[in-house]
Amino acid sequence: MESSDQSEVDTIQCPCGREILDTAEYKLLFLKKEMNEIDILCPNDSCYLRELGFILFKKVEDQGKKQIKFDRAEFYVPFVTWNATRLTEKQAEISLKAQLTDIVKNKIDWKTLVT
Ligand SMILES: [Zn+2]
Repeated sequence: MESSDQSEVDTIQCPCGREILDTAEYKLLFLKKEMNEIDILCPNDSCYLRELGFILFKKVEDQGKKQIKFDRAEFYVPFVTWNATRLTEKQAEISLKAQLTDIVKNKIDWKTLVT
């Protein structure tokens, strides 16, 4: 596969070697629903890190209507550091932030959490 140097250095990679080209590849774990937390997992099943980040949300009631409010999302340090080393700190920060924003906006069905 031909690819320019530019596209190669732009890719986000897990320390296990798995590249994550699209946020749809991350696995989202909703098991900690009671704790208002969603885990972001590496798509590689045999990854030694597994958890790459988390998303926190709040349950609020607005005029008797239950709502979910996004709180914050972060990737864990080992994952961020790995990519900062590969891409430069600034580029990693931009790319990872874009991925988090995309996950929060497009990959989570917030309505299913309102129960
Ligand atoms: Zn991994």
